[in-house]
Amino acid sequence: MHEATQRRATPLGFQPPAIGEEEIAAVAETLRSGWLTTGPKAAELERRMAEYLEAEHVLALASGTAALHLALVALDVGPGDEVITSPITWPATANVIVHTGATPVFVDVREDDLNIDPARAAEAVTERTKALMPVHLAGQPCDMDPLWQLGVPVVEDAAHAAESAYRGRKLGGLSDATCFSLYATKNIAAGEGGLLATNRGDVAERVRDLRLMRRGDGSLYDIPVPGYKANLSDVLAAIALVQLDKVERHRAARLRQFELYDEALAELDGITPLARDPRDTHALHLYVVRIDAEEAGGTRDEYQRALAAEGISTSIHFLPVHRLRWYRDRFPDQPPLPVAERAGDEVLSLPLSPAHSDDDIRDAIAALRRVHAALRG
Ligand SMILES: *Cc1c(COP(=O)(O)O)cnc(C)c1O
Repeated sequence: MHEATQRRATPLGFQPPAIGEEEIAAVAETLRSGWLTTGPKAAELERRMAEYLEAEHVLALASGTAALHLALVALDVGPGDEVITSPITWPATANVIVHTGATPVFVDVREDDLNIDPARAAEAVTERTKALMPVHLAGQPCDMDPLWQLGVPVVEDAAHAAESAYRGRKLGGLSDATCFSLYATKNIAAGEGGLLATNRGDVAERVRDLRLMRRGDGSLYDIPVPGYKANLSDVLAAIALVQLDKVERHRAARLRQFELYDEALAELDGITPLARDPRDTHALHLYVVRIDAEEAGGTRDEYQRALAAEGISTSIHFLPVHRLRWYRDRFPDQPPLPVAERAGDEVLSLPLSPAHSDDDIRDAIAALRRVHAALRG
């Protein structure tokens, strides 16, 4: 067995894309087809993703951010409204609330998986609450039943959750809208792109109008709404289709990497992975650990720097959005969210990608062991 005892010769990337000859061939074929913009590949992606996500409608969009934004616009979220969301997310989730003119209401997360705490969400509902935006961090579904019971429209941020199922039901057709990302690091990666899934025909119809500038088949054009130009190119849809073909194979690689980390971390005091609920299907998008500075002998930042010196790239998912500059300045009265704020200091995401071999992950683990031993002195 491979047993790395010293620094790697080459640096290990955090989450490199797993792109092969099949994706390259699909791009070449699409370019030769004459379709650069939205065309038959985007339509095929919508059909195949609807099947995969077990949702009635899927709309291909320019980004996950656009999917979240258009979902809120389609639900008539606007000035004067409040939208409840998690602070442990990529800022896009909160930014799109701001873009509609509504106010983001951040509530604290659960200690074990850092997903939105349904009890805190329930306390935050007012008569101005227009929507809830749970975020399925790392691919672990949020606890959705108590959120749906609040009787408020739900837009799921499923950017990490392409493969996730909540209590046996695939995420996609369960809420008013569920938004996925095709960004370069995501489980189904096209470079850029997004998908909005819904079983609501009215939401699908509105997003169909909102994503373009014009619609109609006559010789003249007219506009039903001022559109956002958030459609997806066929070149990117072609990449996403090949990635969808590979989703199970890539999942098997991710699962092996999760198992290697789980086994190794059981022996490293003070470094703990986020909880995964066995009742759900986890998308295995990110392997996030929390570093308890007392027990682990160093802070998250010290670990991140020491791993970088070993040639191992890591990332942070996420710093609490309400503590980022614009949100601090704009909402100075934001009450503290202690669980999220502590997590923001402790989370570290380890290298994970189907482009990595099992030995690459063993190298990351060996480096983590050395750093742990050194920092614990
Ligand atoms: C990637 C991501 C998004 C945004 O997706 P883009 O396609 O990059 O716009 C939104 N939310 C979360 C949690 C993400 O990780």
